[in-house]
Amino acid sequence: MTKKALLNVDYTYDFVAQDGELTCGTPGQDIERAIVDLTKQFLENGDFIVFAVDKHEEGDELHPETKLFPPHNIAGSPGRDFYGSLKDLYEQHKNDPNVYYMDKTRYSSFAGTDLEIKLRERGINEIHICGVCTDICVLHTAVDAYNKGFQIVIHKNAVASFNEAGHEWALAHFANTLGASVV
Ligand code: ZN
Repeated sequence: MTKKALLNVDYTYDFVAQDGELTCGTPGQDIERAIVDLTKQFLENGDFIVFAVDKHEEGDELHPETKLFPPHNIAGSPGRDFYGSLKDLYEQHKNDPNVYYMDKTRYSSFAGTDLEIKLRERGINEIHICGVCTDICVLHTAVDAYNKGFQIVIHKNAVASFNEAGHEWALAHFANTLGASVV
């Protein structure tokens, strides 16, 4: 039997807004409606929904991303707020029993988090993924999901990247290498 969850990855101000610190830009902004609609659909079905949100400490010299990217999603900053109307939707539903907000510090939502435990204890075997960036955090999360034996569904109109070539490559990789349904 299929039991599904939606994993909503990093759809925050810093990753999406025009003046976000590490923005996907227009491609990220263009999926707002699709992400909100998909989230509403899972809410209405009573399925488990995880919001996995990148979190960094200012000036963290030990973090590998410090050398790679400008500071982003700093703890306590508005850059970690959800972008656009996802922010309102989350506020309305944040206390729902099926909604789980989770900090993460690496690309993969599974790295150093209790995500796998939350999914296993609910008997979830199929993970639907939306958010940004297709070829970074969505990709690394999907690879871990694959290695852990979850079925994967990628909603291609609800993932985006600043890198169009990377986005297209990742969509093919999800389907051809991770056996995901790309819908
Ligand atoms: Zn980060």
